[in-house]
Amino acid sequence: MADKRQAELAELEITGMTCADCAIHVKRAIEGVVGVEMVVVPGWRSRRAEVSLSADTPSDALTDAVGSAGYGATVTLRRSSGKTAPEGRKPAKASRMIDRYDLVVLGSGGAGMAAAIRAAETEHHVAVVDSGTVGGTCVNVGCVPSKLLVHAAEAYRRAASHGFDGVRTKAEGLDWKRLLALKDVMVEGLRKEKYLDVLASFGDSIALIRAKGRLQADGNVLLGDGRVLETRKTVLATGASPRILPLRGIEGVPVLTSTTLMTMDRLPESLLIIGGRAVALELGQTVRRFGVQVTVLQRSASLIPDHEPELSQSIEGCLVEEGVVVHSGVHPTAVRRDGRGTVVTAVTNGKEKEYRAERLLMAVGRRATTEGLGLSSAGVEVDEEGFVIVDDRMQTTNPKIYAAGDVSNIPKLVYVAAAAGRTAAANALDDGGLPLSLSPLPRVIFTDPQVASVGLSVRDARSAGYNVKSTVLPLDHVPKAIVARKTAGLIKLVVDADSHILLGGHVVAPEGGEMIQTLTFAVKLRMRVDELVGTLFPYLTMSEGIRLAAQTFDRDLSRLSCCAG
Ligand SMILES: Cc1cc2nc3c(=O)[nH]c(=O)nc-3n(C[C@H](O)[C@H](O)[C@H](O)COP(=O)(O)OP(=O)(O)OC[C@H]3O[C@@H](n4cnc5c(N)ncnc54)[C@H](O)[C@@H]3O)c2cc1C
Repeated sequence: MADKRQAELAELEITGMTCADCAIHVKRAIEGVVGVEMVVVPGWRSRRAEVSLSADTPSDALTDAVGSAGYGATVTLRRSSGKTAPEGRKPAKASRMIDRYDLVVLGSGGAGMAAAIRAAETEHHVAVVDSGTVGGTCVNVGCVPSKLLVHAAEAYRRAASHGFDGVRTKAEGLDWKRLLALKDVMVEGLRKEKYLDVLASFGDSIALIRAKGRLQADGNVLLGDGRVLETRKTVLATGASPRILPLRGIEGVPVLTSTTLMTMDRLPESLLIIGGRAVALELGQTVRRFGVQVTVLQRSASLIPDHEPELSQSIEGCLVEEGVVVHSGVHPTAVRRDGRGTVVTAVTNGKEKEYRAERLLMAVGRRATTEGLGLSSAGVEVDEEGFVIVDDRMQTTNPKIYAAGDVSNIPKLVYVAAAAGRTAAANALDDGGLPLSLSPLPRVIFTDPQVASVGLSVRDARSAGYNVKSTVLPLDHVPKAIVARKTAGLIKLVVDADSHILLGGHVVAPEGGEMIQTLTFAVKLRMRVDELVGTLFPYLTMSEGIRLAAQTFDRDLSRLSCCAG
C-alpha cells in the first residue's frame, strides 16, 4: 500500500514543445494541479518536466493538465525516498530534483516576489516557498480587496453602479454577496496575472514550492515534507497577520479581522471597531456606507495619532458626518457575547464603560508570522513586538539570512515590502548592494476623502532641530474642490523657516493619494517654497492646491485669487 502522506517525484516526457513559451505553458499547467508542490521544466528542448507532488495525486491529473495545455505527456513516478512506486504506477527512471539554490525565499507576497524577481533577473537560481495562498496579503486579503470595497462603497453612496455593475443601487439595497463575488474574481485574476504567471515567466530560474518552510541552524530550509533546500542565502518574507488583543473573555467571542470581515456571509447591523488607524477607518467607513451602524473605539486621544492633528480632526469630522460614532481614549479590558451581540468593556477617561454592537472588528495592527520558523535556533533575533530585526541592508542577525516586508521591523506597506525584498536579494547575492532608502516615505489612508502624508510633521521637524513654519489651506480655497463640491479637507505644508525648503506635506483630500506624489517629489528634491509657487499647476486640479498653500506662506488667504493668484 502506498503511504498517502509521502511526497513523490514524477518525471514527465513532454511532446509538442517547440519554443521557450511552451516550457512556460507546460510548467504553469502542471502547477495548477492540486497536490503539485514543485515543477521544473529544464527548457523546451529537454522535452521533460520534473514534478514533486503529494502521494495521493493521480498521475492522470498531470497528463490531463499537460494535455489541456496542448501538449502530450508520459508520466514516470517514484517515491522521494527512492523506494519502489506504488502499485499501478510505472517504476521510476533516474530523477533529478534540483534542491540547491542561490536563494530561497520564504513567502510569495510583495516582499518575496520582489526578492525572487531581483534574484532571477541577475541570473540566480531561486526557490519561492509558500505555505498559503500565492500572493500573500496584498492581493488576497489586503490592499486589493479592501480598496475594491472602498470604491464600491463610494459608488454605492452615490447610488449608482459606476463600474460595479450588478451591485445594486442604494434604492434597491446592497447585494453584498454579489460584491464579494466581484471581489473574488478580481483577486483571482490579479493573483494569476501578477504572481503565478510572472513567476512562471522566469522558467527554471524560479521554482515555486507549495510547502511550509523552516530555517535550519545552517541557514538551509527544511520543508514540511522533510526535504531540505540547500541555499547560499535565504530571504524571510513570511509577512504578518491581524493582531488580536488578549482581552478578558476573548476566547468566547467570534472576533472579526480585516480578513474575515471581507468574507462574511452578510454584513452585521452594527459593528464595534477597536482601533483608529488606516484599516479601521477604511473598513469602518466602507461598511458604514453600506448601512452598518459603526462605532470606533480609539485608544489615543484622536484618530490616526501618528498624523498631523489637523488631519486627524478633519477625517474624524468627515466620518462623524457620515454617522460613524468615534470614542477616543478608550482602553478595552474585556469582551463578551450576550443575547443581543458583542459587548466591549473599557476604561474610558478613567471610567468603566460598555460598548455594544452585533459584531466586533479588531483592527489593532499586525503580528509577525514567525511561528514554527525556527528563528531562535537559526540565530535570527526579533524586536520586543516580535518583528525580525534587520539592518538597512535587510540582513538579520544571522549573516546568511535576510528578511523583508511585514515580518521585519520596517513600515507595513506593500511598496515598502517590495523595495525591501529587492534590497534583501541584492545584498544577499551581490557584493556591495545598496541600503534600503525609505525617505521620503509617502503614506495614504484610503478613506474618502483620503489622508496622505509625506516627510516631516511639525513635531518631527522641531525634534530634528529645524526652525519650523507651517501653513494650512482648507480645501474650500481650492477651485477644483469648490466645483466638485468636495471641500472637506485641507493641505498642510511644513517648511524650514531658514532655508524655505519643504520638509513635509500632509493632505486630506479626494484623491489625496495622487496629490501626495507631487509633494513626495518636492520633498525629495528639497524644493523651496518659491520654487513650488513658481511651478505651473494645471487649473482645475486638486494638486493646484499645493501651489496655493505654498503661496499662503507670504500672502493672506483672503488675497488669494484662483488661477491668477
Ligand atoms: C486590509 C489591509 C489593507 C491594506 N492596504 C494596503 C494599501 O492600500 N497599501 C499598502 O501599501 N499596503 C496595504 N496593506 C499592507 C500590505 O498588504 C502589506 O504590507 C504587504 O502585503 C506585506 O507583504 P509581505 O510580502 O511582507 O507579506 P505577505 O504578503 O503577508 O506574504 C507572506 C507570505 O508568506 C507565506 N508564509 C508564511 N509563513 C510561511 C512559512 N513558514 N513557509 C512558507 N510560506 C510562509 C504566507 O502564506 C504569505 O503568502 C494592507 C494590509 C491589510 C491587512
